[in-house]
Amino acid sequence: MKQSTYLSPTLRDIPSDAEVKSHQLMLRTGLIRQSTSGVYSFLPLGLKALQKVEAIIREEMNHSGAQELLMPAIQSAELWQESGRWEAYGPELMRLNDRHNREFALGPTHEEVITTLVRDDVRSYKKLPMTLYQIQNKYRDERRPRFGVLRAREFLMKDAYSFDTSFEGLDESYQKMYDAYTQIFTRCGLDFRAVVADSGAMGGKDTHEFMVLSDIGEDTIAYSDESDFAANIEIAPVVCDYKNSDEPVKELEEKATPEQKTIEDITSFLQIDEKKCIKSVLFIVDDEPVLVLVRGDHQVNDVKIKHVFDAQIVEVATNEETKKWMKCVPGFIGPVRADERIKVVADHAVEYIVNGVCGGNKEHTHLLNVNPGRDFTVNDYYDLRNIQEGDPSPDGKGTIMFKEGIEVGHVFKLGTRYSEAMNATFLDDQGKSKPMIMGCYGIGVSRTLAAVIEQHHDENGIVWPASVSPFDVHLIPVNIKQEDQKQLADELYNQLQGERLDVLYDDRTERPGVKFKDSDLFGFPVRITVGKKAAEGIVELKLRKTGEVIEVHKDELIQTVKGYLR
Ligand code: ATP
Ligand code: MG
Repeated sequence: MKQSTYLSPTLRDIPSDAEVKSHQLMLRTGLIRQSTSGVYSFLPLGLKALQKVEAIIREEMNHSGAQELLMPAIQSAELWQESGRWEAYGPELMRLNDRHNREFALGPTHEEVITTLVRDDVRSYKKLPMTLYQIQNKYRDERRPRFGVLRAREFLMKDAYSFDTSFEGLDESYQKMYDAYTQIFTRCGLDFRAVVADSGAMGGKDTHEFMVLSDIGEDTIAYSDESDFAANIEIAPVVCDYKNSDEPVKELEEKATPEQKTIEDITSFLQIDEKKCIKSVLFIVDDEPVLVLVRGDHQVNDVKIKHVFDAQIVEVATNEETKKWMKCVPGFIGPVRADERIKVVADHAVEYIVNGVCGGNKEHTHLLNVNPGRDFTVNDYYDLRNIQEGDPSPDGKGTIMFKEGIEVGHVFKLGTRYSEAMNATFLDDQGKSKPMIMGCYGIGVSRTLAAVIEQHHDENGIVWPASVSPFDVHLIPVNIKQEDQKQLADELYNQLQGERLDVLYDDRTERPGVKFKDSDLFGFPVRITVGKKAAEGIVELKLRKTGEVIEVHKDELIQTVKGYLR
């Protein structure tokens, strides 16, 4: 491709509205342009990179045995009413009407469409298992589109759906996708973790998120420094390895603590360790009051509360609710002499507190030397807190560290959530009708591309991994007006292309400094500069990643370039 007529507008300055590196670089290198909030065009260079990611995904999906199809973006409201999601999906669903005022949505995901498709065309167990996938634009009216294509309202997704006759079959289909995803993200050059996640309201069991490690992620991942354990902190289990104390139990005492509401206030006011404090938070769990206790240095985890109570809605009580139940404001509440109708649950660590401190259920008052069992009763002890850095890893290997992550992929066991709602059944080998067992598997294709840039750049621009770089080689004659340089560059351009290498040929009459700056910004793996030694057939080869420069004779060029790209 000749650069003089290529649509690749570069920007010298960092666009002020782009907060993160990948967004800035995608704009500066002319990969994307915003059309309207959260909606982007991919320019030729951006599309080429996107297609490289797509090709890797397609290859690995096909290799896993999945079949590609293409479903419509326009989906009728009736489908969504059948699954019960027309209301439940909420404002993120992009809704529209046709000329007859019938309602439609632009697909944010395709469980409804695929389930009806398979329901209508697959009847016997003999056709199963089956995994279908597509690569297609998705539409979600995100509350906060941001970071360019990392969180867009129109974005490219690969979505796959598996159909099995048994849960064991689903386990296998799931594992195949898990393995394919591992291959895909590895081939894209990403440093990522498959993270155990919360299955939330979708009703499934297992789920993993594929997280690219990054400082701009929206999720916190707890991972082991010695093993491959990784989980979203929402669900990472905490190992209960607290030690018994031999401190003698003292007498309960009431203490005036004016305005000392938070754990920090109390620890400095009383000059005590956070670990002595019993943090008490009143929750409303499906309309019932529940007092949750954790140690002062720990954080309550409401996803775990939700699981413990198998609850739909878990919310911290409002000030009014707290006053109603505890006769006191938050900050001074505690389990001692609390209303008997309130259920009290505590994190395991609380059981080991001796002579602790908690709110006195009276304003500006705390209790000292509080001992669980003696001074208050706990209905049950559970794992109710967030895991923390420095905790032992739940798999027994190493210590927990935290890192932010960008979710690029998601694998999920759906079970019969959609097949039951939409009546997708098959006849088993006894002729009995059963619901199909489903899984769903998504990859944000455009988000993955941005994540690659987020992990692969330096102060001068993008540093593409060869596997997804839009071009393999940037060919730059220092001065195109010099006949020997132009001639050699033309010759090499043809030769490289003949070898099926993707070459961007900078045939512009710009100054060398401008060309090299653009070249660093673009960040293709190999740059070939044709300069002073053109007449001798010698060119300079520079690797974007290491900055290494070597001189090569044109006869050895192809081999050398290919070696580096491998
Ligand atoms: P998130 O928590 O980031 O909103 P999600 O749980 O809504 O993601 P899924 O419904 O599992 O995402 O979609 C599958 C994949 O599509 C995600 O793993 C992610 O890579 C990608 N994706 C989701 N929403 C967006 C978006 N707004 N822009 C770009 N990619 C997205
Ligand atoms: Mg989302």
